[in-house]
Amino acid sequence: MKSITSVYKIGNGPSSSHTVGPYHAARTFGARYPDADEYEVTLFGSLAFTGEGHGTGKAIKEGLPGAKVVFDRETKETDLPHPNTMLFKAFKDGKEIAAIRMFSIGGGSIRIENESSEEDKEVYPQKNFSEIVALCNQEKIKIIQFIYILEGYTLREKLRTVWQAMQASIERGLKAKGILPGGLGLTRKAKVLYEKRCYNESADVAMNRVIAAYAYAASEENAAENVVVTAPTCGSCGVLPSILYYMYKDRGFPEEEILDALAVAGLVGNVIRTNASISGAECGCQAEIGSACSMAAAAVAQLYGLSIDQIEYAAEIAMEHNLGLTCDPVGGLVQIPCIERNAVAAMRALSAVNLSRFLYETRKISFDEVVATMYRTGLDLNEKYRETSHGGLAQIYMENLKA
Ligand code: SF4
Repeated sequence: MKSITSVYKIGNGPSSSHTVGPYHAARTFGARYPDADEYEVTLFGSLAFTGEGHGTGKAIKEGLPGAKVVFDRETKETDLPHPNTMLFKAFKDGKEIAAIRMFSIGGGSIRIENESSEEDKEVYPQKNFSEIVALCNQEKIKIIQFIYILEGYTLREKLRTVWQAMQASIERGLKAKGILPGGLGLTRKAKVLYEKRCYNESADVAMNRVIAAYAYAASEENAAENVVVTAPTCGSCGVLPSILYYMYKDRGFPEEEILDALAVAGLVGNVIRTNASISGAECGCQAEIGSACSMAAAAVAQLYGLSIDQIEYAAEIAMEHNLGLTCDPVGGLVQIPCIERNAVAAMRALSAVNLSRFLYETRKISFDEVVATMYRTGLDLNEKYRETSHGGLAQIYMENLKA
């Protein structure tokens, strides 16, 4: 498996696969052919169908100024090597000098056809969670020790930067007001939710309200095309940060422990990324929000000092009850159902930890099994429910709007 740093990418929203990935692809291509006098980028598949709403054209033009962006909605997904395919062309004096296909593979990562990159470097010999558990038990080490042994302690400083960016996205989002861009007319809600203390509010209600406010804050920043951290994607960027921010600000967990939790969550995201997918276009929202929920559950279990079995079970429960979750963003925007879904997943992650704490010895399903199930389910999902905005909420909302 690769380094867990590949899970956390800092960049502009609203979509890791539709803005962060294409932006990095455009910069990569531009750096290779700086002498070209013209560039053309053709977007296929999900990028062509929902790229306009997600701001893919803008992200590409930011990475490759002056590029002509074409949305090819004719080529069938079955004729593409990946649902998020981009064809970059460079021209000089009217002649084509280069043509490279790149794929936005989820979480802001890109793959260049027929090439391997620095991000492809293998850091972990283990292929899945069971192998990690076996090694930790054999060596009698904790999961966090295992991570630092393989990644090196420099990982901590990288995670500190990630954590700072996560906090900044929440803090900006809690202050912001107004309507989110894109045309749906959705009002930002994080600030109101944060400040709306109910009369006689119980500790439980307050906790859920505050965590939800944090999740809304990061997700609304993403929808506003501001800087967020993929965790593991832009669309799911509110789940893990909201829980960690709550633990840090409201529960007083020290930053050093938050960084450890971030590392464990990253490992969980890494296992999913390696053995399945974190891309809504490939496997539906279960791959984005389901993965984020698993990561958040593992992070909380780590913060509470739970055992590796309990951490694994928390991550498994969190994914299991997101299985089948479709990706049907209204208008191709990462707003409905995405923002609210981040808040709900954050609360669900806490419930998963509570169950795992008491029931881990009775479990029948391993984390690897639920990840394999998610992947298979995702591949079975009709294309309408994989970020094309052709089905589900996206379709019904638009039908009712026209009626
Ligand atoms: S529905 Fe889920 S997977 Fe689809 S764009 Fe929204 S958050 Fe991402």
